[in-house]
Amino acid sequence: MKTEILGVKIDNLTREEISEKIDGFLADGRQHYLVLPYSEFIVQAAAEPEFLNLLNRSDLSLCESRGLFLALKLLGQPVKEQVAGVDLVRQISRKHPGVFLLGGGEGVAERTAQILGSNITGVRDGYRGLAAAVESINQVRPEILFVALGMPKQEKWINENLSKMPSVKLAVGVGGAFDFISGRIKRAPRFARQSGLEWLWRFCRQPWRLKRIFKAGFVFPWLAIKSKLSPKK
Ligand code: UDP
Repeated sequence: MKTEILGVKIDNLTREEISEKIDGFLADGRQHYLVLPYSEFIVQAAAEPEFLNLLNRSDLSLCESRGLFLALKLLGQPVKEQVAGVDLVRQISRKHPGVFLLGGGEGVAERTAQILGSNITGVRDGYRGLAAAVESINQVRPEILFVALGMPKQEKWINENLSKMPSVKLAVGVGGAFDFISGRIKRAPRFARQSGLEWLWRFCRQPWRLKRIFKAGFVFPWLAIKSKLSPKK
């Protein structure tokens, strides 16, 4: 079952159902891609129909942030679970072998791999020629690919390149997950994450990201309220 916000489809599944879906993706021989939308995704999709299409063509779309989770609830179309990218990366890497990490600054994917353990079979930084990344991935032949290039770059990259990496059965855009797992950036405290105020925490720590934070903290709630007041638009 899916729910929708400003045209972006979000799957409404329990944690167990998500895990079963992922197991199924890895077993059916086809290629799949999973998206993890949070507030800024919805703002971006409202401005860029091509990105909206790309999100809605995914095999699984899971609510990544508390802000989006609360908005869906307020709009009367709640989802059962919020799935933080960091947690999903950890869970999948614990359970499944053959995981490749692409993205992050120098040494970040490497450090993340050391923390995640032996199921990680390859890494590559996100600022060294991305065109050549396909070749390095094909040398390792992973089944699972986590791409941390930030949105919408990572979703576009996956969409353009997935078919060139036939071993990959599941590709996921995971934003800043490697930065958090490697410890390069500290995650917001639990109260900030659970109240939907993670954007405020980010503003205090990374004020140069003002434009993006403004989208999450102001533009997104405004668009969500507008859609509630005039649901057909
Ligand atoms: N990143 C990258 N290559 C790029 C742009 C970004 O590897 O060309 C990495 C960046 O180092 C970070 C991750 O993408 O680890 C997520 O970036 P950002 O913080 O902008 O995204 P968010 O976490 O907000 O989704």
